[in-house]
Amino acid sequence: MNNPSSKRHGLSKSRILLHRQCPKRLWLKVHRPDLEKVDDSNQARFNTGTYVGELAQQLYPDGVLIAGDSLGQAVTDTQAVLAGKKRPIFEATLQASGLLIRADLMLPDQDGYRMVEVKSSTSVKDYHLADAAIQSWVAQQSDLSLTSVEIAHIDNTFVYPGDGDYQGLFHYADVSEQISEMKNEVPDWIKDAQETLSGEEPCIAAGDQCNSPFPCSFIEYCCPQTDPEDGFPPEVLPRNGNLAAALRAEGYADLRDVPEERLSNLNHQRVWRISKTGKAELNSEASKIIAELPYPRYYIDFETINPAVPVWAGTRPYMQVPFQWSCHIETAKGAITHAAFLADGQSDPRRPFAESLIETIGTDGPVIVYNAPFERSRMQELADYYHDLAPALEAAIDRIVDLLPIAREHYYHPEMRGSWSIKAVLPTIAPDLAYDNLEVANGGMAQEAFAELMQPGTLPERRQQLHDALLLYCERDTLAMVRIAHYFENGA
Ligand code: SF4
Repeated sequence: MNNPSSKRHGLSKSRILLHRQCPKRLWLKVHRPDLEKVDDSNQARFNTGTYVGELAQQLYPDGVLIAGDSLGQAVTDTQAVLAGKKRPIFEATLQASGLLIRADLMLPDQDGYRMVEVKSSTSVKDYHLADAAIQSWVAQQSDLSLTSVEIAHIDNTFVYPGDGDYQGLFHYADVSEQISEMKNEVPDWIKDAQETLSGEEPCIAAGDQCNSPFPCSFIEYCCPQTDPEDGFPPEVLPRNGNLAAALRAEGYADLRDVPEERLSNLNHQRVWRISKTGKAELNSEASKIIAELPYPRYYIDFETINPAVPVWAGTRPYMQVPFQWSCHIETAKGAITHAAFLADGQSDPRRPFAESLIETIGTDGPVIVYNAPFERSRMQELADYYHDLAPALEAAIDRIVDLLPIAREHYYHPEMRGSWSIKAVLPTIAPDLAYDNLEVANGGMAQEAFAELMQPGTLPERRQQLHDALLLYCERDTLAMVRIAHYFENGA
């Protein structure tokens, strides 16, 4: 049993924002931090935000960073800098009514400062406004003269010219008008958060707030039963809109208990039927489609990285830059070889990626992928950028055959739990090809591994380890496609 005291709790801007998402989230964060599960996507988002913030600082070389060994020291240092000659200030730390904030950028203006919050998103989001309102209110209470409150977000039309020139990466959106009313609500937000923290755990049911604006790190505590891999909850119905929630409201926790007439969509009926019987279904049409594909067949898969801050000249923020491909080549039924490309991480990977791919896949034979829009888009982007390679790349695009719609239309296994992703389909067809024994086991991990390869300080031994793990992962993806195609062709 926890006994939250009635003492006033220290509040920061991020704690107020947690409270605005869900009072229970703040309460748990403070009183039951042991229940928190921070997933990799939260951590990656945090890392990106930190890097983008540091880059924004570099655009103002005459700026001063408020480091401060402690937050108290940072508040004192901020006051000292504000009392001196005006210059850009990074991480200015201010406090009012027990609420502490750190401002990403304070930029000198004629009659005061522009207060700028730096965000790694590509537009101003609603939740940024509450963030800016809190910053602005604390500045106002500290008698700091602000000429504007702004959100600096990434401009996704920016094209990196190279040589470390990031002028133009950020778009500065003035939100002073938008937050002028909201700012007055901040004292109530502080009071409400204090009341929550002084009370017992709030009784709040899981709902839309659990994913908005960010996935809550206490979801496993609040909803321990929602993993679709446990049984057959209504959520396994694909693209179900509000149907799963409606079925739950009607008391159905297991899809198999739902009466058939409650499901009008044919695909939902199929998933329901197969979940009930426990028997996979494969239509003979899948075999016909695959059997008609001529040889040689090229099974390909790409890995990409999409840094918020572009790394290579000619790329844009968040652009998907391909750095690796794998290709299994089937020259006749069962006669298979493998080829691969992996960039070294030290220079722009795009041209060597495209040239080696063109050479490997030649000019004839189907180019087989799983989820074609991804590979097709990357190839078209390369064709648009390297005009001399465009004819070969566009000819290859015309040869693409997508296994995903064939699987979606003609195959389902109860263990797929409503998903036709390659990671869901493969274990039902080739359980020996699991991913869980790989050091790099999914696309997100591949991006992280390549980002580490790109770091000049990565040691040779580690570099080799990452290189091998990436090759193995991408090869597994195309081998998986071979096995799926064979399974379909052979009719199981
Ligand atoms: S999981 Fe949902 S209900 Fe639970 S604390 Fe988080 S936001 Fe609140």
